Amino acid sequence: MSAMPHLDQELFSAKEIRARINALAEDIARDYGTDEILAISILKGSFVFTADLIRALAGHQVHPLVDFMTLSSYGSRSTSSGTVTLHHELSLPVDGHRVLLIDDILDTGLTLQTACQLLTRQGARDVRTCVLLDKPSRRVAPITANYTGFQIENVFVVGYGLDYNNRYRHLPGLVSMKFEDSSGAP
Ligand code: 5GP
Ligand code: MG
Repeated sequence: MSAMPHLDQELFSAKEIRARINALAEDIARDYGTDEILAISILKGSFVFTADLIRALAGHQVHPLVDFMTLSSYGSRSTSSGTVTLHHELSLPVDGHRVLLIDDILDTGLTLQTACQLLTRQGARDVRTCVLLDKPSRRVAPITANYTGFQIENVFVVGYGLDYNNRYRHLPGLVSMKFEDSSGAP
């Protein structure tokens, strides 16, 4: 009957996410010490995560510079084109900086791999990666994040900044979606 994709289960509550982000901030603060961080957030999905992570870092006396870039791996998620497109350039120079690249989900890894290559080419002193979610079973590019919030199965998740067709970004927790064909992805 109901042909529409719909919300399924809450995988992580707002409270669980907050606790995990605080632990990530603690790890990052310890690893970087007094070195300045240039945090680069990959839009759009990571805007909520980034907002909370930089404020958690401030709780550990770490105050990164913050910039944003927009990358998308494919328009429709049903097929992976394997092509990552840059839609929005950085406004800060990266050369000589220690970059902390922040993304919502590490899925095939193509987005993060492309972003790392781009920033290295632009002269970043070093590039580390921080993702809220990791789906290791979907990996195509050989990349592992330096900091990972949660590992999940191959399910499609929304909430906490992540969308499905531009909806559900407002949800405070991370929620899986159910699709009719039960493939786990739209
Ligand atoms: P990849 O690692 O395949 O290049 O792409 C990662 C990007 O695909 C993420 O930044 C995110 O925008 C999108 N993505 C992958 N899995 C999911 C998911 O379960 N939910 C949502 N909303 N986006 C996803
Ligand atoms: Mg994304």
